[in-house]
Amino acid sequence: MADLTITGKGLSNWITSRGRTVAGPYTSHQNAVAALRGVEARQRPVTIRRCLCCSEPFPSTGPGHRLCPPCRRDA
Ligand SMILES: [Zn+2]
Repeated sequence: MADLTITGKGLSNWITSRGRTVAGPYTSHQNAVAALRGVEARQRPVTIRRCLCCSEPFPSTGPGHRLCPPCRRDA
């Protein structure tokens, strides 16, 4: 995983990963926490599933994502 942490205090808070700034600055720790959740959601790993339509393997982002991109487009 990305080892995301929040550094800073007061009105200056950054999201960092292994010493590197990923996002920010945010004007409160709460804002930085909310943004960090968003960053984590985007970095959520995908799983390879078989398409329910054509059985081709494709990267699925979750339980509701069971069709490959070409089949989704055609659905
Ligand atoms: Zn398909």
